Amino acid sequence: MSLHIPTLVLMLVLGFGLLTLQLWMAGRGALSRGELKRLGWAGLAFSIGFAFFALQPWLPGWAVLLGGNWLLMAGLAGFAAAVSRHLLNRGLPVWHHGLLLLAALAVPAVLDVSQPVRAGAMSAAMGALLLPATLASLRLGWRGETSFRVVSLMLLLASLALWLRVGFAAWWLRAGPADAERWQAWSGAIFMLAFMAMLAAGFGFVLANFERMASQMRKLASVDGLTGAVNHNTTVSLLAHAMERGRREGQPVGFVMLDLDHFKRVNDRHGHAVGDQVLKAVAACTRSRLRGSDVLGRLGGEEFGLVLPATGAAGAKHLAEQVRLAVEALELQGDGGMPLRVTLSAGVAEAAKSDTPETLMHLADKALYQAKQKGRNRVVVADDWMRNSTLQSVVG
Ligand code: GH3
Ligand code: MG
Ligand code: MG
Repeated sequence: MSLHIPTLVLMLVLGFGLLTLQLWMAGRGALSRGELKRLGWAGLAFSIGFAFFALQPWLPGWAVLLGGNWLLMAGLAGFAAAVSRHLLNRGLPVWHHGLLLLAALAVPAVLDVSQPVRAGAMSAAMGALLLPATLASLRLGWRGETSFRVVSLMLLLASLALWLRVGFAAWWLRAGPADAERWQAWSGAIFMLAFMAMLAAGFGFVLANFERMASQMRKLASVDGLTGAVNHNTTVSLLAHAMERGRREGQPVGFVMLDLDHFKRVNDRHGHAVGDQVLKAVAACTRSRLRGSDVLGRLGGEEFGLVLPATGAAGAKHLAEQVRLAVEALELQGDGGMPLRVTLSAGVAEAAKSDTPETLMHLADKALYQAKQKGRNRVVVADDWMRNSTLQSVVG
């Protein structure tokens, strides 16, 4: 089988054209991510760059070499910028812009040299432009989205192919046969391989971006924007998970329900915006006292829940007491800089074997109710009487 290079070139024009079209049609939603916008520009540059090579029979040689190489270099720089945004959350370093300028200046300088010298020089310039993105994606690409692994592998393949072409050109100049057709077939095939890999990396990059967007959306849907605590539904599922695990491992699970005292008054006196800031401060203060495996959930309004794996009633009470004291000591600023202090009440319950997340939360709620009844700013642990009356109210 022999490779027909012009057909492959045409395929790359189409492939990169389709990638660009896909991104353009995906529209604002996708392109609001800076890295996909950069990928779109890179795809366009690759597509037009290969169009120059496809039009070789009809264009002057210098136009093909200048237009084609410049655009491919611009595409590689654009791709590298997209990868840098995605992995490192920053643009390319200044030296990379300098490298692009040098590479661009090298193109007219090699117009009149022999084919292997030109191919070697251009491939070295392109390989250098792609090097930082390849190294970054090999170093960091494995940790993030699964689909980014395709990008890492394909960038590695593209880089290897470009440097292989440099080595091949050097070998050909020293020892190779003076057979222009064979040179073209081999060097062309390696070059095509490099850009086929870039095309695959491009589609992988789109997937990785959508994977990232999906996980960000999942996070947005499960986390409360104001306090950073997980929302009600997620708290219940995490509590169910902790209880299941506790049962399996023979470990207790504690649950604490917290409610700010007289919070309506805070809103009435200082306004809703100050109220929001108080909620944020209380959540941060509470979170700073939790272990990594504990969960802070916002159950609604100014009510929070703490899921405490491997913690019995005594441990949960101790923690709730610490949180209560810390919140009481918070020096907050009210309307017009007025000093503002808040307190909270807490209900504590330990999961029994027969509990469901709902019955456990209900029990903690009962204890919380009693803490309010007893005068607020205190912690109450659910006792057997509350548990029995909870059972009755659930059963009856
Ligand atoms: P209690 O000590 O009995 O708990 O008295 P309370 O005033 O705190 O009563 P309750 O818990 O029923 O009050 C809830 C109030 O919390 C109602 C509402 O004004 C306020 N609130 C609920 N959600 C938010 C919120 O997201 N932001 C602000 N600023 N206030 C909220
Ligand atoms: Mg309250
Ligand atoms: Mg409340």
